[in-house]
Amino acid sequence: MMPFGDKLREECGVFGIRTAGAGAAAYVHLGLYALQHRGQESAGIATFDGAKTHLVRDMGLVGTSFTPERLAGLPGAVGIGHVRYSTMGSVTLENAQPFMEQTPWGVLALAHNGNLINAPALRRELEAAGHCFRATSDTEVITKLIATSRAETLEEAIARCMRRISGAYTVVAMAGDRLLAFRDANGIRPLALGQLGRAAVFASESCAFDQIGGEYVREVGPGELLVADAAGLRSIQVLPVVRRAACVFEYIYFARPDTTLADQNVHQVRRRMGRLLAREHPAAADVVIAVPDSGTSAALGYSDHSGLPCEIGLIKNRYVGRTFIQPDPSSRDLGVRIKLNPIRDVIAGRRIVLIDDSIVRGTTSHQIVRMLRHAGAREVHVRISSPPILNACYYGIDTSSRGELVASRLTVEEIRRSIEADTLGYLSHGGLVEALAMPEHELCLACLNGRYPTETPTEVMAGRRALEARRV
Ligand code: SF4
Repeated sequence: MMPFGDKLREECGVFGIRTAGAGAAAYVHLGLYALQHRGQESAGIATFDGAKTHLVRDMGLVGTSFTPERLAGLPGAVGIGHVRYSTMGSVTLENAQPFMEQTPWGVLALAHNGNLINAPALRRELEAAGHCFRATSDTEVITKLIATSRAETLEEAIARCMRRISGAYTVVAMAGDRLLAFRDANGIRPLALGQLGRAAVFASESCAFDQIGGEYVREVGPGELLVADAAGLRSIQVLPVVRRAACVFEYIYFARPDTTLADQNVHQVRRRMGRLLAREHPAAADVVIAVPDSGTSAALGYSDHSGLPCEIGLIKNRYVGRTFIQPDPSSRDLGVRIKLNPIRDVIAGRRIVLIDDSIVRGTTSHQIVRMLRHAGAREVHVRISSPPILNACYYGIDTSSRGELVASRLTVEEIRRSIEADTLGYLSHGGLVEALAMPEHELCLACLNGRYPTETPTEVMAGRRALEARRV
């Protein structure tokens, strides 16, 4: 089996709701469908029915993890859910979320998106104090820190936990009929507050509110803890916001185009990126086509500015999973051919501007360029709606190691040659920041410029198996 694709991998999606009546699980289930793009390895839902906390977790997609019978076994008015792509800990059911733990304030169920850079040290400390761990994910460290706290209240236990953990985290949790949401002081990964009638809802992306018929209200602020209970919704600013650092790749690639992040629609931001890309790197060409789906918005923007027509030139097979068996290992282009097919009538004899959001290893870009040439393209001008990725991410995105990033090894001209494009142009840092319409100091650009918003992590501290290596 080989993995398909040459993309950064999303990390996780979280969802939580406190309804006025029962039936939280149905909303969580729908919300997770909207967040499926953020993680396809496992899915889980926990609910509280007024007396007992219920949990269902399984490997795989939301659609296959929850049968009607399983959903019927999740009664209650409060619920949280999670979809996972692992960035710390193996792909096993024991690492699937939500995590549950008995606490002085009832059973705590917790779901996390992000990556802690000090999880190994905290886990060592907890183990030395006699606490046992069942899994190898940093989420269990958060759960244990709260559950073993000597604080008088749950809110104070969470606040103490937030002061100890470092890195990227957006968390939804419930304890009894209380629904809670909190976010790291830099606000690296997204988390939004929504409402459905009088019900409080939290989700990684606002598209999940649309899915359930709810509305986006605002972002959960960096360092903020929000608590929804019988008394209503209240906010506690636990951590001072020294520096906000929203992940730019949420805008470039991860988030769904119909999501609102920090009050901006993601599709519109991507379209601006495409316009600025056309301004910075024009091309003498006949037609603009996108690598579906991630390049679509930027391709429209490129077309806006350049005046070139934007057409559908590549069709994506939506039913190919992340892995497949390759019958002929010598067929280097098979991976792309299974996933994408060119429309020859659009491509043959024309000069193509090919828009994609990023190049990670460069293998897929090379295969797509070859595919277009085989379909008769006269020229292929590759345009990328982000700057080159030079550094690893330690905040919940699987960028692999720095050595695998083609831009950390090759110049832009060398990359152009390696992917066999006629020309290659990346959006500049200035263009990216202009398209985002946010102050640069409020963005995380670490994988592009090496300036990490937290203490500088190391691969040992933050690796995907950082909590497993210690077990041997
Ligand atoms: S390093 Fe890159 S991918 Fe990671 S949080 Fe920062 S901007 Fe996002």
